[in-house]
Formats: sequence, C-alpha cells, structure tokens
Amino acid sequence: MVIGLGPGPARQVTPEASQLLAEATDIIGYGPYVDRVPPSAARRHASDNRVELDRARQALTLAADGARVAVVSGGDPGVFAMAAAVFEAVESGEEAWRELDILVVPGVTAVLAAAARVGAPLGHDFCVLSLSDNLKPWSLIEKRLSAAVAGDFVIAFYNPASKARPEQIGKAFAQLRREAGERVVVLAKAVGRPDEEIVYTSLASVEPGDVDMRTLVLIGSSQTRLIEREEREPWVYTPRRAEG
Ligand code: SAH
Repeated sequence: MVIGLGPGPARQVTPEASQLLAEATDIIGYGPYVDRVPPSAARRHASDNRVELDRARQALTLAADGARVAVVSGGDPGVFAMAAAVFEAVESGEEAWRELDILVVPGVTAVLAAAARVGAPLGHDFCVLSLSDNLKPWSLIEKRLSAAVAGDFVIAFYNPASKARPEQIGKAFAQLRREAGERVVVLAKAVGRPDEEIVYTSLASVEPGDVDMRTLVLIGSSQTRLIEREEREPWVYTPRRAEG
C-alpha cells in the first residue's frame, strides 16, 4: 500500500488511509511522515529524505515475503511522492514484484489544502509544477513556466525552495513577471499545521526570501482576484468562466 497522509492535521487523513494504516505490519517512509502515523503494533522503518528508490525496494522486498506494508507520503502519494518511486522500482526490479497487489491510497494534496484555505483559486484550469531541479534540468522548468503563462493557467509550485536551492524561486518569479505581468500570489505555508502562515501578495511585491520548503506557492491566472474584507483576510478566487 502506498498511502497519502494529507497535508498535516489528523482530520485530513481519509478514513480509508486510517483503516489501512491500522492493518499494516510494516510502515515505511521519510521519518517525519512515519511519525504522523498513530501508534500501532506495526514495525516502523523511517528513512532519510531523497532515498525514495531504496525505500521502495525495501517495501517491495518485505511485501514479497508476505508482509502487509504501508509506504507513507505526505499529501497524496502520487503527487511528487512515493507512488511513482514504487512503480519505478517494480519496472526495473524482480519479476515477482509484478504479481504483488499494490494499492495506491489517495490523500489531500497540498495544492487542494492551500486552495481551500484561501477561497477558490482553482475554480478554473490550473497546472502544478515541482520547482525542484533534482530530477529535471532548470531549462525544462523555464519552458513549462512559459507554456503555463501562454495558456493562462493558475500555477502552483511544490518544492519551491530549499536550503540547497535558495535562488531558483526568485528566478521563477522574475520570469513570470516578464512574461505574465502582474498576478495575485499566495504563499501558503504549512497549511493545516500549527506553524501555518498565509501571505497574500503579488508578482510585483513577493519576496522570494518568504518562500521555504513548507510553502505551496499559488500564482493566479489573469482572471484570479481578491475579494477584500475589512479587518479579515481576503478571499482569493478564479471565476469559472474564461474568454478565448
Ligand atoms: N505528496 C505531497 C507533496 C510532496 S512535495 C502532496 O501531495 O502534498 C513537498 C512539497 O509539498 C513542499 O515543498 C510544499 O511545497 C508542499 N506541501 C506539502 N505539504 C504542505 C502543507 N501542509 N502546506 C503547504 N505546502 C505543503
């Protein structure tokens, strides 16, 4: 099983995920995600970040020996997470792994949690990019950003910055300013967690230094707007209709 734990709070773990986690004999994942699984009799195998393929092979080896294994991811396991790593391991791995029952259990992904928190920014067409160039060249990210602007999509960035890549988010904002002009920007940090913080800003004013690895960055389409309220946070929404 490859199970999504949602963005953070226990109430956003699906009933299906909770039930299957309770039945697992082994729980495998990046340490902070394993720590979010409620106590049970399962063996816990916590690993470092960025060893996804090793983790996937370990899970498949245990499952082939008869264990009921839960590989856990934050958010949804299919969005920049473990599910694709498991299938990559199956594709290049032992023949017997192809006969396992592999169940991918969805979760609330960060872009949906962030969007719901601020209103309805995804009311019309949108696209999602990982800004990390660990697994793809930066030139491909630039090409996709241009295409997203040309299509007038709402854009969401996962993995927008890390200690190893502090400048890239600034480069991405600069490219968007050149190609799209002005847009609503929301920095949704640690949505649903105690350290949650939401910044409502724009391409002209956004501070790249405000973006960290807990942040989901939303950039509006040309139609995305704020509904201002007195002494309350604004609502952000994108109308359901667009002109061609
Ligand atoms: N599988 C996860 C995403 C993994 S990539 C999912 O579906 O949500 C990790 C990135 O997700 C982070 O860098 C951040 O951009 C985003 N993210 C995950 N949880 C978040 C949260 N609670 N609030 C804001 N962004 C989050």
